[in-house]
Order: sequence, then C-alpha cells, then structure tokens
Amino acid sequence: MLKRLIAKLKKSSPAPQAGTARILNRDQHRISRTNISDAALKVLYRLHKANYDAYLVGGGVRDMLLGMEPKDFDVATNAHPEEVRRLFKNSRVVGRRFKLAHVIFGREMIEVATFRGHHDNAEDDNESRKSDSGMLLRDNVYGTIDEDAARRDFTVNALYYNIADFSVHSYEGGMEDLQNRRLRLIGDPETRYKEDPVRMLRAARFAAKLDFTVDKASATPIPRLANLLRNIPASRLFEETLKLFLSGHALASYQQLQQFGLFAELFPQTHAALKANPAYEELLKRAFINSDERIAQGKTLTPAFLYAVLLWPAVQEQMKQLMAQGMPGVPAQHSAASTVVESQLARTAIPKRFTLPMREIWDAQRRLIRRMPKQIEGIYSHPRFRAAYDFLLLREHVGEDVEGAGSWWTRYQQQNPDDQQALVSQLQRPSERSSKPKRPRRRSNNKPRNE
Ligand code: ATP
Ligand code: MG
Repeated sequence: MLKRLIAKLKKSSPAPQAGTARILNRDQHRISRTNISDAALKVLYRLHKANYDAYLVGGGVRDMLLGMEPKDFDVATNAHPEEVRRLFKNSRVVGRRFKLAHVIFGREMIEVATFRGHHDNAEDDNESRKSDSGMLLRDNVYGTIDEDAARRDFTVNALYYNIADFSVHSYEGGMEDLQNRRLRLIGDPETRYKEDPVRMLRAARFAAKLDFTVDKASATPIPRLANLLRNIPASRLFEETLKLFLSGHALASYQQLQQFGLFAELFPQTHAALKANPAYEELLKRAFINSDERIAQGKTLTPAFLYAVLLWPAVQEQMKQLMAQGMPGVPAQHSAASTVVESQLARTAIPKRFTLPMREIWDAQRRLIRRMPKQIEGIYSHPRFRAAYDFLLLREHVGEDVEGAGSWWTRYQQQNPDDQQALVSQLQRPSERSSKPKRPRRRSNNKPRNE
C-alpha cells in the first residue's frame, strides 16, 4: 500500500528542482529589525541560540521589502514542530494537513513552520497524502530550505530573512518579481492549484492587497479550475473570505475574484441574484468601500455585517419569489433568510456567533423603516442598533426605497432627548397609517416591500 502510494506520488509529481538562493546582504535590502515585532525576534533568536536555522519568511518579509507594515510574522526553521514545542513553553502544535507550531505572546501569535521537502521522501501517509484530484491532504514531509522554497505558493512569498546574518535569501526570482510588482506561482500553475485550490483565492487576495499584476500563466487556469474550491472544507473558506474582505482591500479583492470567476464559487446564491438584478452590485461595492475606509482609520469590522451585506441580494431575490407566491413580507423574509443562510453554510461555514447578529441586522430593517413611535426607544437601545442602522444607510445610499428612514435615524441620533421626543411625535401614528392596506396578500409588481 505504502509502496504503491509512493510510486503514485513519484509518477504524478516529479520533484521540483530546488532553486539556489540569490543572497542579498544586510546592506542590500531595506529590512531592519526595528520593523520586526519583539515576539518574532524572540522566536528567531531562541531558535538560533539552540543551533537551529531561523528565518522570517512569507508576508512579513515581502511586506517589509515593499515598505508596508506586515500583518503578521511567520518563521521557517529546520526544527521539527515538537522541537519548537519543547523550546517554547508558550507554544502548541497545530494542524493535520500542515503541521506547525504556534508560539503565543499575549495577543500576538507567531507561526513556526518546519522546512517542507519533496513528497517522494515521504515515509507514511500522515506525512504525504494526495486526493484523486491532486489535492494535498497531508503536507508534512520535512526537508531543506531550498526544498521549502520550491513548495511555497508565490515567488514573492519565497523570500527568507536570516536572523544569523540579517541577509535575505531570494528563491525562484522572488526579488525580481517583487521589484516588477508581479505575482507568479512557483512551478506549474495547474499542478499547484490542484494541490491546494485555496492558492487561487490567495492569488486574488495578494493581487488586490499588493496591487500586483498576476502573471499570465498563473492567471489563465484559474477560471477553469475555480470549481475545485468545492473540495475545500467550508470552515477554511470562511477564514479565507474574512481575509479577502476584512483586510482593507475588499473592493479590489471582490473585483479580482469576479475576474477570476471565483466569487461565484464562494457565494453562488449572491452570484445568481446579481445576475438576475445587477443593481445589487452597488450595495456590495459601497459596503466594500466603507469597509476599506474603516480599516484605513484603524476601526474594526464584524464578519456579521460583512455577511449581512454579501447575502442580502440573495435573501431579497428569494423573498421576492415567496411574496409572488402570496406569502406576506415578514414571514417571507424570515423564510428567505433561513434558506439562504442554510445553503451558504455548505460553502463558507459561518459560525453561529455571526449568523445570529447577521439575522438581527436583517430583521431590524423593517422596524427601522416603520418607526412605530412606541418602539423607537427599544430599537435605539438594542445592541444591534448601530450595525442595523449602518446597513440601512447603505441601502439608502444606493437608492433602495427605505422611506427616508436612514436620514431620519441620523437626525434622531443628533438630537438631545427632548428634541428626539419631538421628532418621534411628528411621526405618523399607526392609526393614521391604517388607511393604507396593512399587508397586501399579493403585490401587483414583483418588488419586495422594504421590510
Ligand atoms: P498575509 O499574512 O499578509 O496574509 P502571507 O504570505 O504571510 O500573507 P500566510 O497565510 O501567513 O500568508 O502564509 C505564510 C507563508 O506560508 C506564505 O507567504 C507562503 O510562503 C506560505 N503559504 C501559505 N499558504 C500556502 C499555501 N496554501 N501553499 C503554499 N504556500 C503557502
Ligand atoms: Mg503571514
């Protein structure tokens, strides 16, 4: 069994040739230790003192070389995960597909990965395992730094900063690609995407974040292979979605995903709703622009709000259909929300702690628009008020008919309590509204009511 597996792996993936590094001495690059976090430095130095190789690698090195502030720091070493675990009391070994050590310092976590090697050196299928489509189910064969570089995704992610002499080792033309602002996959793109389809999402994300051009050979196979994302666990796709949309480059990421045909794989229902009614795209784009501005101002964003926006077009379309069949607005929205969320979970598993507030944001829309005088205080003091109000403003901003409620709530919040009272008393009383039909059983046009 084992021999057969090894033979199969040898046949299907010839060992990539380990490239030799181009070495840039400390005075030939712009990385300075002052830009590296204390936690990362501690990890690097302790590994080095224990006679292991210790390099900073990946996004940290890439971003520092570009003059950007790194999001986090990743370390590569020849120490095995268990050895790292023994060296740092504050660490734990995680991951099955890709085993590595996490070293924790308060709120900061440093990922320490052992150099990966060729899969033809695998001893058992806990170290190396592939699916029929070529996907790597286990990637735990250890090797040398040269081999490790060949197994990374993009050339600009194969740059290593050596703590021993502060040099940068550039593999696979990484430094040149960085200078040319080019995103290029290492090795044969199709094989590499099949090994791990998430690399397609990473291509979209890095192109957006770094404003790099994706090399033609790396970009071309993506639309054809996009459906391989269906083989990825929904929880991993949820994490990737957050990185795409909550890191300050949501709009560019969205556009890149659409260009690659990847958005439809992540959000099939939203994709269908956008096709049925392209006007929804304005809402998404406006939300992405707002999110990017918020991140730039150092503010945080909740995944619940992001998902409320991303799934709203699908909920609206579904709700329209139910109402056309005669279901009243309120139950139609509830039912549409349940169906859409349930179906989305199969793609990007959304944890309950986000689906609940997301649904509260949707549910609050009707109350925010109706503004029943007796409910105003309750709505305003609800913990979800702010998010629901932001969502309403977004809808108002893109021209949805919300009966002026967005501006009304803006005014309401700007008043002192007495003037708030006055505003509320100017609202139409429910009895004055009763001349209108309360709940039309069937609407003549197919437009959903704003609830
Ligand atoms: P950022 O942290 O800014 O999102 P990053 O490049 O550091 O970007 P990480 O997910 O932190 O991305 O991964 C660290 C490094 O590990 C990458 O730079 C890359 O070298 C390698 N890597 C991560 N994911 C993959 C993958 N799916 N296939 C191959 N290499 C990967
Ligand atoms: Mg990183």
